[in-house]
Amino acid sequence: MNCYNHPERNAVITCPQCGKGLCSECANIYSNHLCHECYKSAIKAHKWQNIQGLIGFVILGGLGWYCGGKMSYELFQDHPTVPLTSKLLYGYLTGSVWYGWSFIDKFQPFRLTSANIFIWLLYFGLKGILSIYSGVFIAPFYLYKNIRALLKK
Ligand SMILES: [Zn+2]
Ligand SMILES: [Zn+2]
Repeated sequence: MNCYNHPERNAVITCPQCGKGLCSECANIYSNHLCHECYKSAIKAHKWQNIQGLIGFVILGGLGWYCGGKMSYELFQDHPTVPLTSKLLYGYLTGSVWYGWSFIDKFQPFRLTSANIFIWLLYFGLKGILSIYSGVFIAPFYLYKNIRALLKK
């Protein structure tokens, strides 16, 4: 097989993704001996993952911001405006559940396949509680990772 980019050269390796032949020069341009196209699409997929992370945080956080603000307005009607700091706090708490959930997903050794509704409720309840607790600590790291990955070219 010859190099995809240099038809006159022999391929020393094939791209692990698509199997294109690559010469020694082309094989070492990108990490894991990926060809140009596969490297590009890997970067794209990685970017999209980070965008999804941020979208989830913003949507959930916005929900917490809005509902939390409304709730405390109902509770303390003598304070017509809910302070910005508590709205931020509600937003952060609900948004971080998103990251807590995906964090737990990563370490969860099994996938739930049972159809029993009671087990489902128990599973989601437990996972939800764990997500809330771990999310509070983990959200800043995920946020930093997501934003940094998007700013990087
Ligand atoms: Zn490839
Ligand atoms: Zn080449």
